Amino acid sequence: MSEHAQSKAAVARCAFCGKLNRLDLSRLRDGPKCAECHRPIRLDRPVKVTDADFDTVISGTEAPVVVDFYADWCGPCRMMAPTLDEFAHDRTGEVLVLKLDTEANRATAARFGIRGIPTIIAFRAGKESRRHVGMADRRVLDALVA
Ligand SMILES: [Zn+2]
Repeated sequence: MSEHAQSKAAVARCAFCGKLNRLDLSRLRDGPKCAECHRPIRLDRPVKVTDADFDTVISGTEAPVVVDFYADWCGPCRMMAPTLDEFAHDRTGEVLVLKLDTEANRATAARFGIRGIPTIIAFRAGKESRRHVGMADRRVLDALVA
């Protein structure tokens, strides 16, 4: 059996030093550490992405990805945050959950035609697969990657 068939490659930014790390979501039990600063990389919570690393993260991740396009001033985004946190926690190792601040990262938001927030976009193999505009409950989030 090829290694490729089993791996769930993902790219995630270290929350401490900002280094982009390549990981295997199927081996999270090993407790992945940042290649640069050696601190743990936590994927059981949404990971921030920016204009600078969005394409690298999406194209380097084979596992399903869910991106929350949000803004700090957006009330529904804040209300949805605990649901997204729970989703990321429960689906750790299966789904890479990302957050993109649309105010600070306008290029990516414009490229995906984000008009209302929150907008949640699911990606598979680097391509948009599904999209939900407006607050999403847990059922909607699960359906996006079903
Ligand atoms: Zn680091």
